[in-house]
Amino acid sequence: MIKNIALLGSTGSIGQNTLEIVRKYPNRLKIKALTAGNNWQLLAQQALEFNPEYVALASTKNEADLKAALANTNIKIGTGENALIEAVSLNNVDTVLAAIVGFAGLKPVMEAIALKRRICLANKETLVVAGSIFMKAIKENKVDLLPVDSEHSAIFQCLSGLNNPNLSKIIITASGGPFKDFPTEKLKDVTVEMALKHPNWNMGGKITIDSATLMNKGLEVIEAHWLFGADYEDIDIVIHPQSLIHSLIEYSDGSVIAQLGWPDMKLPIQCALSWPERWEPPLKAFNLLHAKNMTFFEPRFEDFPCLKLAIKAGKEGGIMPCVLNAANEVAVEAFLNNIITFIEIPQLIETTLHGFNNAEVKSIDRLIEIDYKARIFAKSMIKAEKKSAV
Ligand code: NAD
Ligand code: MG
Repeated sequence: MIKNIALLGSTGSIGQNTLEIVRKYPNRLKIKALTAGNNWQLLAQQALEFNPEYVALASTKNEADLKAALANTNIKIGTGENALIEAVSLNNVDTVLAAIVGFAGLKPVMEAIALKRRICLANKETLVVAGSIFMKAIKENKVDLLPVDSEHSAIFQCLSGLNNPNLSKIIITASGGPFKDFPTEKLKDVTVEMALKHPNWNMGGKITIDSATLMNKGLEVIEAHWLFGADYEDIDIVIHPQSLIHSLIEYSDGSVIAQLGWPDMKLPIQCALSWPERWEPPLKAFNLLHAKNMTFFEPRFEDFPCLKLAIKAGKEGGIMPCVLNAANEVAVEAFLNNIITFIEIPQLIETTLHGFNNAEVKSIDRLIEIDYKARIFAKSMIKAEKKSAV
């Protein structure tokens, strides 16, 4: 049966990889809606190729440009935050591939769950901040949830789905990022350019920095906790610089199963879109003889404090993962704009976490409020620091 897709974040790294898969399977996958943050040019180009019913641009600034670019088509155009919700609400959409980066993806994905769309989830931040509400909505609406993140796709494939009662442990692999072997004292000199060069994966800016600080792995531990119902104590992290084993699981009898593949997101994306079917390979065949040396190390928790901060916030639960995520989004943006240094990223997150008392998460609206407050707090901490430096 053909899948009718709303692709949230089509102009990003995951979005563009998804469109490569859609291009290969015109008889199985149909794009109904595309959305972007502000890259209206690429959005227009994609719309002309895939002819969706609807395109949404979160920013309202270039509405006129987008309309002009699509003037000779029947494609409907929406702008602003609500347009993202409209994209998932189109009548005949049955599948939503969530590839917006950060908290901005939360509202549309929650709406998609309420509308019982099948969810292919790349946007890990939504599950990190709203885990309990998110998973409750998934269950209540009997929605299929397919992970796109490569580690979680690996775990999902090893388990042949969610909710396997014999799961005893999850072992998430991590490339370790570009600074895994950096001497501790040199981490303070890491520049934006250095941090943006990931050794194995080609990804958007925010997740590339998250991979360098190891925050990405911390977020992935929280993501795994919610997706697979695993206790934090049963989730291990192993540094595996070659990124060939994407993660492993241990069953209750001690048997360990791993999923292997080249470091390329096209396979996990296709796997989520095709599940439970398996389609033709999107990449050249995997070959262990070409993979050669696979190595494994413990993470350097002391040198990459983001990992500990994330796991701690995950264990505390409540609003803390939301505060952590907001502070991280502010810190990463400030680092990318050369306002704070690499080692100030975890410092800013920790200071922000200290500024909040934990509380239960009752609703998405409450999370939106907490996210907003945490951002303001984190930004004020940057200002205070920079002021005291002069
Ligand atoms: P990206 O920065 O390349 O793309 C992000 C997309 O979201 C773009 O289309 C952008 O226009 C849109 N966007 C940004 N801000 C928005 C806003 N405020 N409102 C609406 N749309 C907005 O990011 P990416 O690397 O493709 O990552 C997307 C998500 O997938 C992230 O949550 C990331 O953690 C996750 N992920 C990415 C990879 C990867 O290989 N890139 C792997 C695993 C998971
Ligand atoms: Mg990942």
